[in-house]
Amino acid sequence: MTMAATVAELVRGFKANGRIVIVGASLAGLRAAEALREEAFNGSLTIIGDEPHEPYDRPPLSKQVLKGWVPADHTQLPRLREVDAQWRLGVAATGLDRATKQVRLAVGEQVPYDRLLIATGTRARQWPNPTEAALEGVYTLRSCEDAARLQQALASRPARVLIIGAGFIGSEMASVCRELDIPVTVVERGSAPLVGALGGVIGEIAAEMQRDHGVDLRCGVGVSSLEGDAGGHVRRARLSDGTTVEADVVVASLGSIRNVEWLEGSGLAAGFWGIGCDAGGRAFDINGVVTDSVYVAGDVARAPHVLYEYQFLAMEHWDNAVLGAEVAAHNMVSLEPDYHPHLLLPGFWSGQFGVNIKSVGVPPFGDEIVFTQGSVKERRFAAAYGRRGRIVAAVSFDQGKWLEHYGRLIEKSAPFPPPPPGWDRPDDMNPMPAEFPAPGVPTAIPDVVLTGHDPNERIAEFRPRR
Ligand SMILES: Cc1cc2nc3c(=O)[nH]c(=O)nc-3n(C[C@H](O)[C@H](O)[C@H](O)COP(=O)(O)OP(=O)(O)OC[C@H]3O[C@@H](n4cnc5c(N)ncnc54)[C@H](O)[C@@H]3O)c2cc1C
Repeated sequence: MTMAATVAELVRGFKANGRIVIVGASLAGLRAAEALREEAFNGSLTIIGDEPHEPYDRPPLSKQVLKGWVPADHTQLPRLREVDAQWRLGVAATGLDRATKQVRLAVGEQVPYDRLLIATGTRARQWPNPTEAALEGVYTLRSCEDAARLQQALASRPARVLIIGAGFIGSEMASVCRELDIPVTVVERGSAPLVGALGGVIGEIAAEMQRDHGVDLRCGVGVSSLEGDAGGHVRRARLSDGTTVEADVVVASLGSIRNVEWLEGSGLAAGFWGIGCDAGGRAFDINGVVTDSVYVAGDVARAPHVLYEYQFLAMEHWDNAVLGAEVAAHNMVSLEPDYHPHLLLPGFWSGQFGVNIKSVGVPPFGDEIVFTQGSVKERRFAAAYGRRGRIVAAVSFDQGKWLEHYGRLIEKSAPFPPPPPGWDRPDDMNPMPAEFPAPGVPTAIPDVVLTGHDPNERIAEFRPRR
């Protein structure tokens, strides 16, 4: 038998009798399982998820569920095909031994694999003071249980809701409060809502939109502490500018933390930033060497993107989880010449204050912005982001139909500013600074250091920052 025939036989054998384990039973995990069966993988498939539920969809949680239109437990993801798998729901993976190829479960079992897909996503960052976080009336939003609890709290018509953090999810929740006619205060440490994702120019428009809808928006201040009453229910927040906000529901919307702790000691490039992988979903080990049998997809993955100077991007978006899962699944059962790259142009949508906000590309990669269509005054516009003379992203407010056009320009690395595509031109079409906040706030993230002198001994290690 030739070498090529032997390898083809090995792949056939793996597809018939191999063992694949997926850790994380949500959007990326489910779509990967479906894709594996679609790719004619007939071996054993085990899906491990620490939530007790069948995979469900998260975007409706901050929208339809909070409004009370859809019960939180009615958000199951549609199944695209039958998946013959062993589902281990309500059980967390607690360790990974790559030498023996086994996943350790919280219940003490070991699950062997030939190939592993990690799709453990992220969780909500909790309010940092545990005593204050435990006060009744303090919430975060990531799971369907979180959404059910918060929806109940809103349905009981609190006197005021305080939302800490005006990213997409915080802003969507503020919008729901106003739709329900509940007084709401939003406190944002940055200069404006959505500033991290879309920059200060768009942030100012978002701020105006919030205020016009009656949100008490306070930017450039932080919440210093939360105070409860004698019954342990939150009543008040003290702000860094010395003011206080009386509120009986507080939602900490402080961004997400990647679920990687269970991989400690596994020797993967897993840390605060997620799990490093190549554009085919193959995980890197701690030395930055690509592995053969461990793959990553979804919110927890961080991969280089060809259009963005090969920088490693973590894309916490729905489309990225779906396509990343499909690419990883394909590559898990294919030979190298047939590998697919995950080249999705990132995209995001949000509905808030009656406006449909969409973006394509990576806005924070840009340093300039130009309005290209529509009217800023009417909050119906498209704008493009540029960097070094090329277009890298676009955002639209109620002009989503145009984003495909900008997506094509971004894919072609077209010049910035782009020519406006239509007749509906804004008054001011001059590029201006996009005003993204400067990164570089010190953190307690461990450093990666190199140890050993002999080239054969040199390896990377995580060292807690002193
Ligand atoms: C409220 C909300 C609104 C959103 N709205 C939008 C939107 O409008 N548009 C958009 O593009 N995106 C939106 N997103 C983001 C989108 O939902 C995510 O990108 C998507 O859920 C990512 O899927 P995932 O499978 O990678 O991760 P997740 O959905 O986070 O799933 C990971 C799963 O792994 C489980 N897990 C973690 N650790 C372990 C372990 N050790 N063992 C076993 N299981 C484990 C987790 O509990 C979870 O079930 C929203 C997210 C939220 C929370």
